[in-house]
Amino acid sequence: VARSLTGMADVPAVMQAAVLGQPGQITVQEKRTPEIASDEVLVKVACASLCGTDQKILSQKFFPGGKPPSPAYTPGHEYAGTVVRLGSSVKEFRVGDRVVTEAHRGCMRCPNCLNGHYTECLNFGDTDVGHRGLGMTVDGGFAQYVANPVSTLTLLPDDVPFDDAVTLTTAGTVLHAYGTLEQPLAGSSVAVLGLGPIGLLAVQVARALGAGRILAAGRRDVRLKLASRYGADEVINLAAAGAATDLTAAAERLAGPHGFDSVLECAGSESTTQAALSLAKRGGEVVLVGFYDGPVTVDLNRAVMNAVQIHSVRGEGSGSVRRAVALAETGKLSGREMITHRVPLADITEAFRILTDRSQGAVKVMIDVAGEVPAE
Ligand SMILES: [Zn+2]
Ligand SMILES: [Zn+2]
Repeated sequence: VARSLTGMADVPAVMQAAVLGQPGQITVQEKRTPEIASDEVLVKVACASLCGTDQKILSQKFFPGGKPPSPAYTPGHEYAGTVVRLGSSVKEFRVGDRVVTEAHRGCMRCPNCLNGHYTECLNFGDTDVGHRGLGMTVDGGFAQYVANPVSTLTLLPDDVPFDDAVTLTTAGTVLHAYGTLEQPLAGSSVAVLGLGPIGLLAVQVARALGAGRILAAGRRDVRLKLASRYGADEVINLAAAGAATDLTAAAERLAGPHGFDSVLECAGSESTTQAALSLAKRGGEVVLVGFYDGPVTVDLNRAVMNAVQIHSVRGEGSGSVRRAVALAETGKLSGREMITHRVPLADITEAFRILTDRSQGAVKVMIDVAGEVPAE
């Protein structure tokens, strides 16, 4: 970032930004560079990644009432970049700081926010009282510039590259999910079902936090390989013939006859939710992390009769992106290998197509907004 004598980088009045059109349509247009409030900074986006939620945002099913929150709406909730402008009250950051974002800023006045649970803000989506869901309820990071409230940003250490950093938003969700467990993760047995980016990071974080035996189950070879590399003791291909038998046998090998201490459901499907309930030990814990496409039917008696506790989380919460960055800084967490595709902002429609078309083998699709991320 070029710095002027006043310490402020030169920021153009207009920028390129992806904008939702009709459901399923997104185009890159010129838009005014956002203004910042006193408690916000302007972030020049280096790169941003697509996640499953973005597909629901593109189809616009994500939005209550089926309509984006504003005209010329810009999505994107996983991004990293450089601070180029400071609001008048900002003392947390300086121009030139490298930062990674998290999506949620609570209203900081409802009972849940006051309890520290800002991702469960009771004023979700109400921008008038201060809630912000970057890339969800207000403009996000599929653009050259974004206005970020300071509480949504974490300073990046020099040795954490931008493309690694972008995956740390997702790792924050995983840390938040493990935070719901009542029993300590260290030394415990963990099963992770569903190996999208969240599941893959869940394997890595479980390893980093000292879990004992880790089972990972997913449906695609490229992801199963990554799960092994990230520390899973055994991986099961749920798409293979005899998967159910394989899963039961692996569970017995890793967790013994009574089942796992904890199971993370990261697929958002009926069969993996049922498997999660079956794999948990009596008194074990299940965390529902994946979003479902619709209602599912599972045998909840399996939970009730065995006192299996069911938790759920949405988003990063409890400052967990900060903790994910600290794990990345010490080399215990890295999402870079999950990035299978890099696409310039101008080709964002193609980026969505790659993510949707399963034959492309996409894990994480990165939008190289600034054109600065070196290809590897
Ligand atoms: Zn997401
Ligand atoms: Zn709130």
